[in-house]
Amino acid sequence: MDESGGSTGLREHEAPLDAAERAAIDSVPKGLFIDGAWRDSPVALPVLDPATGRTLCSVADARPADGLAALAAATAAQADWARTPPRARADILMRAHHALLADADRLALVMTLEMGKPLPEARGEVAYAAEFFRWFAEEAVRLDGGYLPAPAGGSRFLVTRQPVGPSLLITPWNFPMAMGARKIAPALAAGCTCVVKPAEQTPLSMLALAAILAEAGVPAGVVNVVSTADPGALIAPLIADARSRKLSFTGSTAVGKLLLEQCARTVMRTSMELGGNAPLLVFDDADLDEAVDGALAAKMRNIGQACTAANRILVQRGVAEAFAERLAERMAALPMGRGTEPGVVVGPLIDADAVAKVERLVADAGRRGARVLLGGQVTDRPGTFYPPTVLTDVPDDAELCHTEIFGPVAAIGTFDTEEEAVARANDTPYGLVAYVFTENLRRGLRVCEALETGMVGLNQGVVSNPAAPFGGVKESGLGREGGSVGIDEFLEIKYIGVKV
Ligand code: NAP
Repeated sequence: MDESGGSTGLREHEAPLDAAERAAIDSVPKGLFIDGAWRDSPVALPVLDPATGRTLCSVADARPADGLAALAAATAAQADWARTPPRARADILMRAHHALLADADRLALVMTLEMGKPLPEARGEVAYAAEFFRWFAEEAVRLDGGYLPAPAGGSRFLVTRQPVGPSLLITPWNFPMAMGARKIAPALAAGCTCVVKPAEQTPLSMLALAAILAEAGVPAGVVNVVSTADPGALIAPLIADARSRKLSFTGSTAVGKLLLEQCARTVMRTSMELGGNAPLLVFDDADLDEAVDGALAAKMRNIGQACTAANRILVQRGVAEAFAERLAERMAALPMGRGTEPGVVVGPLIDADAVAKVERLVADAGRRGARVLLGGQVTDRPGTFYPPTVLTDVPDDAELCHTEIFGPVAAIGTFDTEEEAVARANDTPYGLVAYVFTENLRRGLRVCEALETGMVGLNQGVVSNPAAPFGGVKESGLGREGGSVGIDEFLEIKYIGVKV
């Protein structure tokens, strides 16, 4: 293992990177980060560039024994970290915030190379991740409690909040740094140690973050990172292990349900940030330019690969045609290409399966009567690209109305009345986010309250903000990340009865 923790590169298959790209990839440690040290593994996990399909490098692939070693390190570090004064924990988090911002260009390049999102979006994600460290640095010193008299007198109730303990944090590939930051920052602020398992396709952003956290002063064992190609084998023993006290998962509803079943066996506390099927409602009294801007943001962020992506766009009949035409015009103008190329807005999808899924969903919608206003055909360029696509007259029975599209496809249907719009928006087992566009405040608030989602964007297409509580209802999850409640996910309430 070299000093950067990397020795498992598959040099012969490397993508042709320019010098800056090569330097960025080489700068990331490639080992398992356990107990403050980088460890090698006999098994290599290749990391691909989705824009070319070629191998960028490889990282150490953790076996179940490595996962248990990481948990042992997190357990050993727990008591000292919980005792570390909140102000000292906050100072470390704040250093991490500044370090991330100072290193944003390198980190963004790594992210773009392993995940495909255009560089400006990757820079935005680094800034978003950094903001979680600042936000939770500020929250770390505000862990309040209570002191109150028993109603019958004779004793006092002391209420305090304590760290839940060693936490398992599992993250997806679509926001490879921010989804980790959204868990690590509150866990550390609360006084919890953690074992982080990044997504197999995008481990580099998390490994780079681990190095930055160590540099910022996070003690050995407090944050451990294990990448693996076999998540089931690695994670199941960790969930079954009584030393793990918490699972915070971001990913698909299917995997979330599987993990909830495993957690039930030890009654482990869970936070679940799962899939979405966001409706975006445009009423005929909306500012249409604002609605198109909002739809573009809600649809195209991360090339459509976001849990918050507008999956079903429902437009009131009177403005449906004008809205669709304007959206198609805007989407047609979005340059597609490798995320590192200047001006590119539409990068590749994460892999060939993702492209095949989008193709299948678009074909199914077409068979059921949807019209293709833009795109709809895979181009023959290498890499896993799918072009911006606008479908109109999409019927509710089209499969893409019931599953996450996870691609740059705007699926537009029409509605006539507010009641119908709300009923159709709610007709899904998911409930993460919805978007509403109307200039009528009364209607806006009425509809926001009636929507069965954890979040609503009213006249705006982006809701994510570290200072706001992010999360869903129904099959979109349990718990909230960010905001003043985000830290609660890593705290237990303890009541102490005191006789006076
Ligand atoms: P995924 O397949 O559920 O994977 C998420 C994470 O779980 C990955 O690290 C994955 O590892 C791991 N995993 C898979 N099977 C596992 C198992 N049996 N035991 C333990 N861990 C396991 O989801 P994804 O495709 O990466 O991400 C896209 C999904 O995430 C979408 O549904 C999206 O809506 C959702 N998401 C939700 C939010 C939110 O805040 N609500 C945010 C972002 C994304 P591997 O990488 O090795 O498969």
